[in-house]
Amino acid sequence: MAASLRSLHPSFRPFATQLILEAGQAGLQPRVTSTRRSRREQNFLYRRFLAGQSQYPVAPPGSSAHEYGLAFDVVVQPYGALSDLGNRWEELGGVWGGRFGDPIHFEPPGFSRPSARRAGTLQSSAELVASLFVPLPVTLLRTAQKRLFPEFTATTLRLAKKVLPDWWVDLADRLTSF
Ligand SMILES: [Zn+2]
Repeated sequence: MAASLRSLHPSFRPFATQLILEAGQAGLQPRVTSTRRSRREQNFLYRRFLAGQSQYPVAPPGSSAHEYGLAFDVVVQPYGALSDLGNRWEELGGVWGGRFGDPIHFEPPGFSRPSARRAGTLQSSAELVASLFVPLPVTLLRTAQKRLFPEFTATTLRLAKKVLPDWWVDLADRLTSF
């Protein structure tokens, strides 16, 4: 199962990257445990969930933001700091799973909580979200840029490289392209 931020939707990835970077800077040792999932993987997780073998809720196959590369799960140390991370994510305009019993889960605005969805509308609502999602990141990105990017320094980038070697390059590219 993918746990790399690289597998996320390109429009969504910068926001995920930024949150994880901030968590790293705050010394929370973030570890991304799940990003994009195939339908099969979602199916597997969902069955485990139905069997009572999952610590966190799992959306029915076809309805999870993970299947669209639009969600990531992350654990931090200490565990309680997830709510701080959730607050930060919400400040950036995102939806935090802690609001519906899934504190390790982060997704963009537009996907509703799994229990609120009806089986027959799953696919179409996911498609609707995909179409709505596209214009959002620009606004979010501007906000993020204004708030955070002036604070980035060479030191920060070095830290990012150390803490998050897999994707710091993406961030560096993004910073220099502004
Ligand atoms: Zn999740």
